[in-house]
Amino acid sequence: MKAIVCVKQVPDTSGVVAVKEDGTMDRAAMATITNHDDLAAVEAALELKDATGCEVVVVSMGPPPAEGMLRELLAMGADKAVLVSAREFGGSDTYATSQILAAAIKKIGVEQDDVVFCGRQAIDGDTAQVGPQIAEKLHLPQVSYAADVKMEGNALTVKRLLEDGYMMLKVQTPCLITCVKELNTPRYMSVPGIFECYSKPLEVFNYDTLKDDELIDLDTIGLKGSPTNVYKSFSPPVKGAGMMLEGADKATVDQLVGILDGKHII
Ligand SMILES: Cc1cc2nc3c(=O)[nH]c(=O)nc-3n(C[C@H](O)[C@H](O)[C@H](O)COP(=O)(O)OP(=O)(O)OC[C@H]3O[C@@H](n4cnc5c(N)ncnc54)[C@H](O)[C@@H]3O)c2cc1C
Repeated sequence: MKAIVCVKQVPDTSGVVAVKEDGTMDRAAMATITNHDDLAAVEAALELKDATGCEVVVVSMGPPPAEGMLRELLAMGADKAVLVSAREFGGSDTYATSQILAAAIKKIGVEQDDVVFCGRQAIDGDTAQVGPQIAEKLHLPQVSYAADVKMEGNALTVKRLLEDGYMMLKVQTPCLITCVKELNTPRYMSVPGIFECYSKPLEVFNYDTLKDDELIDLDTIGLKGSPTNVYKSFSPPVKGAGMMLEGADKATVDQLVGILDGKHII
């Protein structure tokens, strides 16, 4: 049994977003972090490893510096890492990204007891499309928004987060689960893990590695194979400080009406 976890290195958008002249995000100019939901997915896989002894394989598609993030995940306890990286894969939208990641997961191999974990959503693209698209392309049953995951035989019981409650679902392996950050608290890298992480296997899958898969075609991957393109990225304008009016009397209502009238809102 193994758990394969898709992890994305994302720009730290908590600060100022750098934008290139063409309106797209200047990823190279921004600090990077591991996507929060994906850390929850890694922790879920590591908890499955603690319970069953399964192998944990972390996979990321991105430029070569994403290796640093993968080494950190190996230091947390993952057994193997795969970096999916090639010029041909650059500029992929969610459709093309899921084509490539699905081909990479097929190459790693999905067997009867295996579970593929993704984060629910990446904080930069923010679409929550990649996990469900991978499941469709691999013909796997999927459960999204997982807030709790338990293994029972060859099935997982998943608590699925809804806006106003939970749904309990049982899903047979092999399956794909997308995880929300409320699922758990990711563990820290351990000191022995940091020592071991450079001796654990990290494989690079490039275009040649995957090109024989039916999902990999230059017309369905990369910028050319992406049906959608980013038109513009920008930080929303900073709003001015608000004004609070205290009181529930006629004078306060008159004051509010005066302010709105003065701004030509009413
Ligand atoms: C219309 C459009 C056009 C784009 N064009 C470009 C472009 O030209 N150049 C560019 O650099 N980017 C581009 N992007 C961004 C890039 O395509 C997305 O980052 C990528 O498709 C993942 O989508 P997402 O961030 O919405 O992920 P989500 O669907 O929100 O991610 C869900 C989960 O899928 C997994 N996942 C997603 N991406 C990866 C990954 N790379 N590796 C491993 N796991 C992953 C993670 O588990 C993640 O939590 C574009 C995005 C869109 C929506």
